[in-house]
Amino acid sequence: MPKNAVLITGGAGFIGSNYIPYFLEQHQDTTVVNIDKLTYAGDQENLAEIRNHKNYNFVEGDICNRTLLEELFEKYEFKAVIHFAAESHVDNSIKNPDAFIQTNIFGTFNLLDVAKKAWMDGPNQVKEDCDTCRFHHISTDEVYGTLGETGLFTENTSYAPNSPYSASKASSDFIVRSYFHTYGMNVVTTNCSNNYGPKQHDEKLIPTIIRKAISGENIPIYGDGTNIRDWLYVLDHCKGIHLVYQNGKAGETYNIGGRNERNNVYIANTICELLDKLQPKEASYKAQITFVKDRPGHDFRYAIDASKIENELGWKAAENFESGILKTIEWYLEKYNTK
Ligand code: NAD
Repeated sequence: MPKNAVLITGGAGFIGSNYIPYFLEQHQDTTVVNIDKLTYAGDQENLAEIRNHKNYNFVEGDICNRTLLEELFEKYEFKAVIHFAAESHVDNSIKNPDAFIQTNIFGTFNLLDVAKKAWMDGPNQVKEDCDTCRFHHISTDEVYGTLGETGLFTENTSYAPNSPYSASKASSDFIVRSYFHTYGMNVVTTNCSNNYGPKQHDEKLIPTIIRKAISGENIPIYGDGTNIRDWLYVLDHCKGIHLVYQNGKAGETYNIGGRNERNNVYIANTICELLDKLQPKEASYKAQITFVKDRPGHDFRYAIDASKIENELGWKAAENFESGILKTIEWYLEKYNTK
C-alpha cells in the first residue's frame, strides 16, 4: 500500500491540471492519485506533461461513487485529499442545476465522509493526530454573492449565493465546515476569485474572447460589460492553495484573490489590443466586440480581500492582470493556431 499518497479530485480540469504538475515538483516522494469523471470539462491532454510521471496515477471515476472511493482509500494510504472536482460553469447551472447539486454537494459530502471514516473511524484512525490527514476543499468567492461599487469579501463576509452554481458551492463549504466542528476533522477551505491562464475550458470568458477574436466571429460580452471580477492567474492560485494545504490552520477558510479588479469591457479591449500586436489583421479585433443579453442574476462585482493569506502565510499574487493575460494569450494562440 503506497503510504505517502494524496488524492486529488477533478485534476483533469483547468485548475487541477495546473496544480498537479506543481505539486509533483514540490513533493518528489509523494504519490498523486487523480480521480476525475472526465466530464466535458475534463481533458487528460491537460496533463500530458506528467502522464508518465512515476508518482502520478489516474483513475477515471465519479466522486459520487462511494464504493470506488472506499476502494481507493483501501488501496492507498492517503494523507490528504485536495478537492477540485466540481461542475463549475455558472451558465450551465442556470440551464441544468441537477449535476451541480449532485457533484458539488453530494459528491463533496461523499468524499468527506469516506475520508473521515478512513482517517478517524478505521484501523488507521488518527483522531488524536488530526494534523496528519488533511481535507482541502477548493471553493469560490461567488458564495458571498455580489458587491456594490465598494467593499471587499473577507473570510467573515456572510454567504449570499445567487446562482445554482454558487449555492451548490456554498452548501459544500458548509458541509466541509461541519466536519471540523462536529468531528474535529482536519479540513481547510480556500475561496478564490476568477482564475485565468493556460488550460481553461473554451466555454469560459477569456478563452471565448481569444477564440472568437482570432476566428473572426463576434466577441460576446454580457449586458453592458461593466461587471467586475477580481482576476487571479492560475499559477498564483496554485501556489496559494499549496501554502494553505501545507500551513493553513485546520477549520479555517482563506480567501485567495489577485487584487486585480477589472470589468469585462476592459478585459475584452485589453485582449483585442494585445492580439492586434501579436497577430495583426486589417481591422482591430475590437470591432468584433458585441454586447449580448445579460445572464439572469448576474452578480455585479466580486472582489477579494486577501489580507489573511498574505499576512498569515506570506502569499501574494505575482502576476497583475496585464502580465498574466499576455502569457495566457500566448498559450491560447499556440493552441488555437495549431488546431
Ligand atoms: P473545471 O470545470 O475546469 O474542472 C472540473 C473537473 O472536475 C473536470 O476535470 C471534471 O471532469 C471533474 N468532475 C466534474 N464532476 C466530477 C465528478 N462527479 N467526479 C469526478 N470528477 C468530476 O473547473 P476548475 O475551473 O478547474 O475549478 C476547480 C475548482 O475550483 C472547482 O471546485 C471550482 O468551483 C473552483 N473555482 C474555480 C474558479 C475558476 O475561476 N475556474 C474560481 C473559483 C473557484
